[in-house]
Amino acid sequence: MDENLIPIKQIIKEEIGDESAYRTWIEPLNFKDYTGNILVLSAPNKFFGEWINDHYRQTIQSCASRFLRTDNLKIRIVIDDNETQAAPPTLKLDESQAVNPRASSDPPLFNPAYTFDTFVVGDSNQFAHAACLAVASNPGHTYNPLFIYGGVGLGKTHLLNAIGNYAIGKGLVSSQANISFVNGDDFTNEVVNAIRYDRMLEFRRKFQNADILMIDDIQFIAGKERTQAEFFHTFNALYVAKKQIVVTSDRFPKDIKDLEERLRSRFEWGLIADIQPPDIETKVAILKKKSERENIHLPDDVAMFLASKSSSNIRDLEGMLTRLGAFASLTGQPITVSFAKEALRGIIKDTDKPVIVEDIQKVVCEHFGIRITDIKSKRRSKSLVIPRQIAMYLSRNLCKVSLADIGEKFGGKDHSTVIHAINKIEKQLENDTYLTQAIEEIKSKIYS
Ligand code: ADP
Ligand code: MG
Repeated sequence: MDENLIPIKQIIKEEIGDESAYRTWIEPLNFKDYTGNILVLSAPNKFFGEWINDHYRQTIQSCASRFLRTDNLKIRIVIDDNETQAAPPTLKLDESQAVNPRASSDPPLFNPAYTFDTFVVGDSNQFAHAACLAVASNPGHTYNPLFIYGGVGLGKTHLLNAIGNYAIGKGLVSSQANISFVNGDDFTNEVVNAIRYDRMLEFRRKFQNADILMIDDIQFIAGKERTQAEFFHTFNALYVAKKQIVVTSDRFPKDIKDLEERLRSRFEWGLIADIQPPDIETKVAILKKKSERENIHLPDDVAMFLASKSSSNIRDLEGMLTRLGAFASLTGQPITVSFAKEALRGIIKDTDKPVIVEDIQKVVCEHFGIRITDIKSKRRSKSLVIPRQIAMYLSRNLCKVSLADIGEKFGGKDHSTVIHAINKIEKQLENDTYLTQAIEEIKSKIYS
């Protein structure tokens, strides 16, 4: 029966372009059924199913739609063999989106897995968590608007879903339909469609009647004039009516390029809360909580190992756990550190690899698009000083070299210049999410 899938798998393979991801996750899928525009695929186990659902459902849907020449296709993932266990709960949400690609105009459904209970609170996210809980408990009357910002995979979307789940669960809004929950791109698409089909009135009615308006990744509306104007009017109408507005972004309002000044200033009327990258303890706590929920036996030393090897993106951390769970259940082996090293080969970085200053200079220069001679020069323009300081900081942290040696390798700087650079970066890392993520990215390139 699996022949049915060959052409679709081929399209998916081209689409994802990553041979090993394809072999690990797509190849094992089997064809089950295709009737009434529902394509049923089976995955080897629950972890697989969830992983597919989280990472590949959209790709599978668009590739299969292309092949089957239908734009109304539903994908259902079931578990192989006799396990009649239905697909993970999030599938419900996804299915509704599959039925109607413009599902954002339907009453929103919140991901039941993203609640305040499943959100692990640590130093890095405590403020944002508290602000969201306050807003969810008393919409429109505490902090309005609430602006959450933080890097990729740090829990922004989770918190918005938690607000929705909480407000509905406690009966604080009369129905789901009274919450508008879209991301910046969907909002833009809705504006475009409303203009195109002459449905602006409907659009406004829908958004301006919400008790809670949540826009995830608002940075996507930047630079789009008409969308920003519509958002501005919606914002004003809701604000005056004391309705709650929550938005998230990957950066601080001031740092969103091409965002209209009047929107920027409105975001600053309310509360701005940041989410910082998690520390190791928080990462371990997240892993422990998630593994319990998923019935994966994860020993403490393995949790610590994963936490120390992962980037700040919690989605990646969860991906590692899912993969470990899948491998353990496929092979029947217990999860140990060496098993994890094996199962995650190519995914975790080899931070034991020795690094030299020249490697760091090369990667930093590539990252910022400058030349090696620039980083070693005495020129003090901002575009050179920051990369140079980052490279010095990383040299000190990743290589076994003295301050004097670092100075030497950076075109003969003295040791006080090196100390100054390191201190400067350390200080800035305390409250600059952007820099933190840039450094993470550079490190991962150095070790890859
Ligand atoms: P963002 O929207 O900031 O990119 P998400 O909210 O999508 O990030 O989070 C990525 C993944 O990490 C989600 O699966 C989410 O449940 C999980 N996650 C993030 N922060 C936490 C946390 N503090 N506790 C538990 N899970 C978390
Ligand atoms: Mg998000």
